[in-house]
Amino acid sequence: MTAEGSGLLLEHGRLIGGLGSDKSDDGGVLVGADGRIKWVGPMAQIPPIAPDVRRVDVTGKWMLPGFIDCHVHLSNADAERDPLRRATLPKSYLHLSVVQSARVTLQAGVTTVRDLGGADLGMKMAIDQGIIDGPRMLIAVTPISVTGGHGDACYPSGLDLLGFRSQYPGIADGEVECRKRAREMLRAGADVIKIHATGGVWSPRDQPDDEGLTIPEITAVVDEARRHRGKRVAAHAQGRGGIANAVLGGVASVEHGYEIDEATVEEMIKRGTYLVPTLTTATTVPDKQAVPLVSYEKKMKWIEVARNCLPKALTSGVRIAMGTDCGVAAHGRNLTELRRLVEFGVSPMEALLAGTRYAAELIDRSDELGSLAVGKFGDVVVADCDPLQQIDQLEDSNHIVMVVKEGVVYKDLVSQTR
Ligand SMILES: [Zn+2]
Repeated sequence: MTAEGSGLLLEHGRLIGGLGSDKSDDGGVLVGADGRIKWVGPMAQIPPIAPDVRRVDVTGKWMLPGFIDCHVHLSNADAERDPLRRATLPKSYLHLSVVQSARVTLQAGVTTVRDLGGADLGMKMAIDQGIIDGPRMLIAVTPISVTGGHGDACYPSGLDLLGFRSQYPGIADGEVECRKRAREMLRAGADVIKIHATGGVWSPRDQPDDEGLTIPEITAVVDEARRHRGKRVAAHAQGRGGIANAVLGGVASVEHGYEIDEATVEEMIKRGTYLVPTLTTATTVPDKQAVPLVSYEKKMKWIEVARNCLPKALTSGVRIAMGTDCGVAAHGRNLTELRRLVEFGVSPMEALLAGTRYAAELIDRSDELGSLAVGKFGDVVVADCDPLQQIDQLEDSNHIVMVVKEGVVYKDLVSQTR
């Protein structure tokens, strides 16, 4: 895919201050043929524009940086939540379902995702090369998990579904094995390492407050990632003990964090650890008929835990980044997370920043992503509702009327309706 001919100018839209561009009711964003932002600001100050630049008038609409979802599983098809039934599906079907999950994610206004388990390098390459439409991907390949932990899909019968999930196994016990698994994920193309610091809802034999990797194991993984150009570690952590282990082990982000307590929040603030609360999945009641009973029961209990513990944490000053766990929740409604953050006490502006600037900081791509600023990637989303006043409407991707990624227009309901 190449960017729009000689460039693309979105003109006469509203820019919101705080998202990297000055506040303006009549603003513009110019993306060059190289896919980078060349100019952003009030239209009154627009520099001379070459005649062959494509211009799109977005009067009355809002221009935002492309959103970043820091926690998705694009390779989890929506259709099947039961791991046993899923294991009976042909792998080609599971691979091809990524085409749909990637497309609807991009159409929802998410131009970058951090895939925290399942997607491999081939999926990322297919998007990078324009074979399929989707958000730019950072991948973790397979999470590292202890025997019997959240990533262990071996049933008491001996049936082991791990092989169905990935050709890159992630089970590791002890510091040496954990470090080796981290090296294997990096060899397989991982941009970020994911660990399971606790059990979880969807694994058959553990509980969300079971602890996963020990602090020394986590520390070994964090150190191995660091040795590879400072790559970072994300920790699935739901129960209190495992959350604390993850933070003390030095991870960059706590994913879920449902039972987070004050002491750990303080430690996270001190260290600059991010919280990615995945409220989209945390608050979703599953269809009782469609999921294993054990998971349904765990889920109902942990929805309450999250509702009790997260609001306090999210308003404590800890760094927050947007992540949905789409793949567990339905793909393509990623910006539901913004509304949920606001429901849990975060201000609309802070929620928008969690989905843009702060998310870019967490994934260490602030130089290229997360705000509308000269030199950054031309990732621009246009909404037909006020993101600060009607943040709840952003979850309906019909309100995302334009999606531009690196200067390429992937969705344009603006030109079509004029
Ligand atoms: Zn997840």
